[in-house]
Amino acid sequence: MSFSRRDFVRTSFLGTLAAGAGLRAQGESASEYLVEHPAEVAQNDDAQSGSYKRPIIICAHNGFNYLDDAFAFLKSGGDTLDAALRVVQGPENDPNDTSVGLGGLPNEEGVVELDACCMHGPTRRAGSVGAVRNIKNVSLVSKAVFDHTGHVMLVGEGAERFAVAVGFPRENLLTDHSRKIWLLWKEYHSNSDWWGPGLADPHWQPPSDAPQPPEKAKPQSELWQERYRGLEEHAAALGIAPEDRADAIHKVLFPPTGTIHCSALNGKGEISGCTTTSGLAYKLPGRCGDSPIIGAGCYTDQDVGSAGATGSGEENIKIAGAHTIIENMRHGMSPHEAGMDALKRVGRIYSGDMNKLRFVDMTYYILRKDGAYAGVSLWEGYRAGHPHMIAVHDGAKRSEVTTPLFKGFSQDFPPEPKVPDEVRKEYLK
Ligand code: ASP
Repeated sequence: MSFSRRDFVRTSFLGTLAAGAGLRAQGESASEYLVEHPAEVAQNDDAQSGSYKRPIIICAHNGFNYLDDAFAFLKSGGDTLDAALRVVQGPENDPNDTSVGLGGLPNEEGVVELDACCMHGPTRRAGSVGAVRNIKNVSLVSKAVFDHTGHVMLVGEGAERFAVAVGFPRENLLTDHSRKIWLLWKEYHSNSDWWGPGLADPHWQPPSDAPQPPEKAKPQSELWQERYRGLEEHAAALGIAPEDRADAIHKVLFPPTGTIHCSALNGKGEISGCTTTSGLAYKLPGRCGDSPIIGAGCYTDQDVGSAGATGSGEENIKIAGAHTIIENMRHGMSPHEAGMDALKRVGRIYSGDMNKLRFVDMTYYILRKDGAYAGVSLWEGYRAGHPHMIAVHDGAKRSEVTTPLFKGFSQDFPPEPKVPDEVRKEYLK
């Protein structure tokens, strides 16, 4: 990278100003939510480009438990992409992580479909797979695409057949746990279809939230309690263990998101990244999010750095988030500034309309090739007490809260009627 310190400061300042002004001008209310002075964090943003090199791995928080092994591998001379893949294979192999790989929540038809991509900085290669069924380690399959073919992206059945051809085992990715949550989701949404108990079932009752004559209308909190109890009964009937019911109900009412991105840099300044996910729970079959899109869910440029994303994939594709961040850094922004600019671009998709943006969320994981890094997100977290986090290992393993663009918490999508506070306290802790 060749830019002077003065260019660096001026470019970053103008870029940030222009982006911020755009958002404010288009949506007056948005400015109230902007964090004017984001905590300047221990995110090592001020490391000057090229001043030193060090091994470091950053990732989404569900990779935390796998960082020690990957960091030791990286320090002992292991390849940067192989190190990142070691991290993301952890959640891919974990049946209890319902957002990635084995045990991921399925699409609306009950089939797990996985997306992944990766980029190897030193050789400038990229691979990607989308909507893959029956293969657990799709991150490794995305690497196999560039190891074994002249292509960059394979999807669906073709990607699955390719994976089997190069030696990946076919396996059933739908765990009993995820299958039951999916069934509960089907039944919850079955007022207007044929899933769930029918009229002939002796216990059938009209749904409590069906339209009622005004004299029979019940207060919201009562309706919610009935709805929740109904879900509990369904969960019990499906054989979901009592201790798992609250979590299952939460995943039905508020379909979770989750993905893992990881970027790794070694002492020689080589850098790589990868992202893998089961995507949105209950998505339409064939839907690909941002995770397999090179330049959206992940982008690595050996000259600049590596970035990846978790969150609202549809929005991130529209702004080519990871690539935007890398280009921002190429033109002099720090990791933090580059990520904030990308988040403001997400805000501009909806012209700063907070009625829509509260249903959107994004977290970016950003690593510059000199070891400077940042974790930034659109909102503070999904709900109070659950902030967005980034996991880091550079000799010391730690979790850090990301810097949000907006104060407050994003809302789940599709929107559910507001849960009354007393119900949330009692049931949805
Ligand atoms: N970005 C992922 C997708 O859209 C989901 C997520 O990160 O939670 O598939």
